Amino acid sequence: MKILVINAGSSSLKYQLMDPDSGEVFAKGQCERIGLDGKLTHRVPGKDNYAEEIAMPTHSEAIEAVLKILVDPQLGVISSTDEIDAVGHRVLHGGMEFTESCIIDDACIAAIERCIPLGPLHNPANLMGIRACQNVMPDKPQVAVFDTAFHMTMPPKAYMYALPYEYYEKDSVRRYGFHGTSHRYVTARAIEMMGKDPKELKIINCHLGNGSSLSAVVDGKCQDTSMGLSPLAGVPMGTRSGDIDPCVVQYLCNRYELSVDEMLNILNKKSGMAGMSGVSSDFRDLEEAAAAGNERAALALDKFAYEVRKYIGAYAAALGGLDVLVFTAGVGENSGQMRERICNGLEFLGVKLCPYRNKKRGEEAVISTDDSKVTVLLIPTNEELMIAKDTQALVQG
Ligand code: AMP
Repeated sequence: MKILVINAGSSSLKYQLMDPDSGEVFAKGQCERIGLDGKLTHRVPGKDNYAEEIAMPTHSEAIEAVLKILVDPQLGVISSTDEIDAVGHRVLHGGMEFTESCIIDDACIAAIERCIPLGPLHNPANLMGIRACQNVMPDKPQVAVFDTAFHMTMPPKAYMYALPYEYYEKDSVRRYGFHGTSHRYVTARAIEMMGKDPKELKIINCHLGNGSSLSAVVDGKCQDTSMGLSPLAGVPMGTRSGDIDPCVVQYLCNRYELSVDEMLNILNKKSGMAGMSGVSSDFRDLEEAAAAGNERAALALDKFAYEVRKYIGAYAAALGGLDVLVFTAGVGENSGQMRERICNGLEFLGVKLCPYRNKKRGEEAVISTDDSKVTVLLIPTNEELMIAKDTQALVQG
């Protein structure tokens, strides 16, 4: 089977054509500057990257450009779009409507629309991607895979905020959590790598990238996660503040005559590692700057490791123990230095990182010592494969 995986943003669209059984990626790329001028970048494994400027007034032209290059005699990987069996879409917010992936029909689209107030930036863009595919490929089955779905197994004590109950009942204000497709993928891989009954495994997943979140999992099901109603909550991130005292918003709004929206923009785009360090949101830049003596870069890295470690401690307490600690995503997969900083101080939980194994990058590995009570795993995430597999399963009924 060949599945086209689409991740649509407001002015960009990433795609991958892949085999959900083998995980083979035939081609991938992205359309950028949709609605402005339009640029397509296309990659086929083993061949040179290709980039072209193409007018893309809307997402429909972007999808048309993707299909055109996929069947191009020189640059393409299929002879006809008939070879594409189905399309899988990443959708950010499924609210309380979706506990799992679903075939896209009118009812599904209406439900994604109802979730727009919860995901005001992403859901409209995801819908543009879905509608563009419906326009351009009306006969292809399509599937929506939600970032929130994996976390819907959380118990009420984890997902409720201590606010007046009516905000939950009337307005659906609660913890949802994000990166769910990644957390689900690494959970499944961790269970397989451990070769044990999932019921026996208390797992903490650390998805650490530009955006970061942790999840606490038992029996393969999410019990708690660090992001909340929105992806702004939890540990500090590239440009996002993570958890802060809500009074900071009131204090700074009053002091600088900012609207709540302006303050939220600061919390989302100018805070986190970039805001603290004044250097960059990128962990490679920060590690380099810290090594060269930049104190604020060092402080930002220290703060990040400290907050991640605190969440691990909290989740180990919430789960009543810990068997497996998983690191994934850009930072989690590649920065041995950051993994070491985080695990330093977790010896009391039975975490013993092996300095030699921790040198690994970007490949599945056990990185704890043989006598570590907690098995520490490095698992490269693969959200696209998870989306392709869900799409295949739903399309095959
Ligand atoms: P992601 O959002 O999962 O793509 O992760 C992006 C983040 O991973 C960026 O901050 C990168 O700096 C970081 N990253 C990627 N490779 C490395 C590396 N070798 N060392 C440290 N950070 C890395």
